[in-house]
Amino acid sequence: MFKTKKMFRLVVIALMAVLFLAACGSSDEGTSGESSGDNGLATIKDRDKIVFGVKYDTKLFGLKNPTSGEVEGFDIDVAKRLAKEILGDETKVEFVEVTSKTRIPLLNKGDIDAIIATMTITEDRKKEVDFTDVYFEAGQSLLVKKGSPVQSIEDLTKDTTVLAVKGSTSTDNIRAAAPDAPVLEFENYAEAFTALKAGKGEALTTDNSILLGMASEDDSFELVGGTFTDEPYGIAVKKGNTEFLDALNQSLETLRSNGEFDKVYDNWFE
Ligand code: GLU
Repeated sequence: MFKTKKMFRLVVIALMAVLFLAACGSSDEGTSGESSGDNGLATIKDRDKIVFGVKYDTKLFGLKNPTSGEVEGFDIDVAKRLAKEILGDETKVEFVEVTSKTRIPLLNKGDIDAIIATMTITEDRKKEVDFTDVYFEAGQSLLVKKGSPVQSIEDLTKDTTVLAVKGSTSTDNIRAAAPDAPVLEFENYAEAFTALKAGKGEALTTDNSILLGMASEDDSFELVGGTFTDEPYGIAVKKGNTEFLDALNQSLETLRSNGEFDKVYDNWFE
């Protein structure tokens, strides 16, 4: 009898512990906020924070500083200014890492409210997401080791491997521009640049703006051949998230007219 009571008590304690842990788990999900609601302006204002999907490995646009743990770059600073316009405080942001491949799925799942991550506005992407007005103009180019025989897309043949990143416009564009050249695709730009340094290909291709960041990291590499596409960047929101899209566009407009946008631009690109 005594034993049974003790057993019963143990089972109750164990059950309570399980329930307690489950409650902690679910409240964690709840407070992260990004999965709840519809990512509309009212939800964002209620939550008092905008969740932006940003790059973590792209120097000049979104790069995680290993010392401070902070993500830094032009996209990050624009996102902070937008939060200031919409929520009155530039610290009311949360940054979630995206890659070229994961950004649209994460947006459409509701994990992030917007993508601000070197993302070109294209007709194909417009079928899946809505874009703000253009906030940056890039163009696709090539990064090669200094002294490389590859000096432009005309030099790309079946014998020259080109490195690119999955889910980027760059992979499609290079296949169209240099159809004979084999293309090796990577998950992100850090991996692609490491592969170029290791000699896994003759050239890395993406936007000149991203390649410039890589060249500034290692001066044995250079951009060649100019640009062969136009890559206008936009901020993406879920399709039909019109109120939030309008708020972002209005805020971009304000930042342009009050000089804040130019200040951010000059800080990264002058
Ligand atoms: N801007 C291009 C794109 O949206 C290349 C940069 C990137 O992969 O984010 O695909």
